Amino acid sequence: MKRLINLALALFVLWCTTATAQVTVIKAGKLVDPDQGAVLSDQVIIIRANKIDAIGKGIAIPSEATVIDLSNMTVLPGLIDCHTHLADGKHGEGDPMYQLKKSASQTVLESVPNARVTLESGFTTVRDVGVYRALNDIALRDAINRGDIVGPRMFVAGAYITITGGAGAMTGMAPDIQLPWDFHYGEANSPWEVRQKVRLLAHDGVDQIKVLSTGAVLTHGSNPKSQEFTLEELQAAVDEASHFGLRVAAHAHAAEGIKNAIRAGVASIEHATLIDDEGIALAKQHGTYLDMDIYDEECIQEEGKKGLVPADFLQHDRELGELHRQNFIKAVKAGVKMAFGTDAGVCDYGMAGKQFAFMVKYGMTPMQSIQAATSSAADLLGRSNEIGSIKPGKYADLIAVTGDPSKDVALLENIQWVMKDGKIFKRLN
Ligand SMILES: [Zn+2]
Repeated sequence: MKRLINLALALFVLWCTTATAQVTVIKAGKLVDPDQGAVLSDQVIIIRANKIDAIGKGIAIPSEATVIDLSNMTVLPGLIDCHTHLADGKHGEGDPMYQLKKSASQTVLESVPNARVTLESGFTTVRDVGVYRALNDIALRDAINRGDIVGPRMFVAGAYITITGGAGAMTGMAPDIQLPWDFHYGEANSPWEVRQKVRLLAHDGVDQIKVLSTGAVLTHGSNPKSQEFTLEELQAAVDEASHFGLRVAAHAHAAEGIKNAIRAGVASIEHATLIDDEGIALAKQHGTYLDMDIYDEECIQEEGKKGLVPADFLQHDRELGELHRQNFIKAVKAGVKMAFGTDAGVCDYGMAGKQFAFMVKYGMTPMQSIQAATSSAADLLGRSNEIGSIKPGKYADLIAVTGDPSKDVALLENIQWVMKDGKIFKRLN
């Protein structure tokens, strides 16, 4: 009897919450469906609380609904940037060593506006792939999730897993300077040390693991053409991460480092700058995503002219910029899985949309570039059931622009309306 009462009570509570859940209806003049690669017209989207309840042409509008009329606009799923660094503080301070002039709390508080402008520019989700100060990204993610500050859904890495003096290390100081723990939390120099770091980060509550397979452009004393972690170390990272249900993203510029990471089973190669034909074939065979930030060279060279970029970084970048873009063309042609990632933080926050036009200039159709930032990005994150397209059951993460971005993708540089989790964060003026 007591059980029956409990059940009745539970059903009543469920009925109350469904009955009182806020209903919002959006009338979309056009709607981009990245799953089909199609632009649909005159769609009605019904949202209950924070989820999409129904979508289609001519469906009945519930009487209690708040109606948002976007019938002269194009509605898209919220964009996803698969390579950001939102928690590194203010953009444009040049040398990473500048980080040593601030406390961790200063840096993370300076990052609050980065999260806001990212969301307001139409990116409702980011995969954040590393921080100078370990765990600042977790603090930022959790503050957003609590609703204390405004920002995108963040999936974070917690720290860079890197060799000593490697691409993800803070380098450039005198050898007798001892860094605080959080500047070298992810340092590892053997398969077992890699496993230990993955275990620590999993316990800290990260959403993915970031490893550095080769040298980097924006690190002192690092050679982007060199290999850093060995195949064994990369395999240890992927295997250990899998025990915690975590995927691995591997930074890699040099061809051998790219191939090692693919063979080890990482989910994505970040940058993939010097990928060769064998690497492209391997990525296709393994279903590995490439996340190629081909817009960045613009900002690095532009800010270099203003004296904001250290000379060694500029030299690295000049040697690689055009090759990177030519290899992007080859990878697109070969049909490798591509995700949209900008390395936000290299360019200023809120500018990620500028990469769409570059992806189209270097071989993608506008729809392919939109898919890279929606359905494909969600697949890379393992979250296709929650985000990446506008389908019943997914989060109500939606954006809108005037005009048709499947014809003119540069429209995505100015998103006029943003909804995340059923709440509006940018309204039409
Ligand atoms: Zn990066």
